[in-house]
Amino acid sequence: MIIIMLGAPGTGKGTAAKVLTKGLNIPAVSSGDIFRKAIADGTELGKEVEGYISNGKLVPDELTIKVIEARLKEPDLANGVILDGFPRTTEQAERLDKFLSQEGKKIDLVVNLETPVEELIERVVNRRKCPNCKADFNMKLNPPKTGEICDFCGTPLERRADDNEETMRARLDTYEKQTAPIVDFYQKQGNLLTAEVSKRCGRMAPELAESIIEDFRKKGLV
Ligand SMILES: [Zn+2]
Repeated sequence: MIIIMLGAPGTGKGTAAKVLTKGLNIPAVSSGDIFRKAIADGTELGKEVEGYISNGKLVPDELTIKVIEARLKEPDLANGVILDGFPRTTEQAERLDKFLSQEGKKIDLVVNLETPVEELIERVVNRRKCPNCKADFNMKLNPPKTGEICDFCGTPLERRADDNEETMRARLDTYEKQTAPIVDFYQKQGNLLTAEVSKRCGRMAPELAESIIEDFRKKGLV
């Protein structure tokens, strides 16, 4: 089973992927995980990737595709994978299709999470992290018991410098421009599930993931 996760930062894409991993018993890997593993494994491709990342440069399309293809051939992903953060361009999506068909595989589902921009911004500006024990809080959704102090170790919580409205709007803008063509691409293929996850619609990313698992069960796919 191959599932692709699409969704702007803050939609809960990673959380949804975790729920799917548990329910479907297939690993979730992000493009970042794949790069880090290639570097840690010391492969030729990993060394190339490291060259770009250590210089703060974006890994080019061609290299990204090669690294992902190599990762998808590894035995732990033989039964399927949930891909998060790849493909990012139509070129990558086309190459992934080609690769999968050579392997006799196909994408089963593309999940596209949508959340109103104002809600994403609210979530992000309210995020706090404990610098000591790394616990995550959200002043609106999951506030600590007292002020902005960590429940677990009593350390004052911190806000990431880029968790502000201006940066978030820019990130969302970039995401939108980059992803719209991929959404179109999969829409045409007919394997796209676009679903709103928000307070407004009363369903968040984990509940959506549960309903996807339920649907697979009904169809006898898991
Ligand atoms: Zn703490």
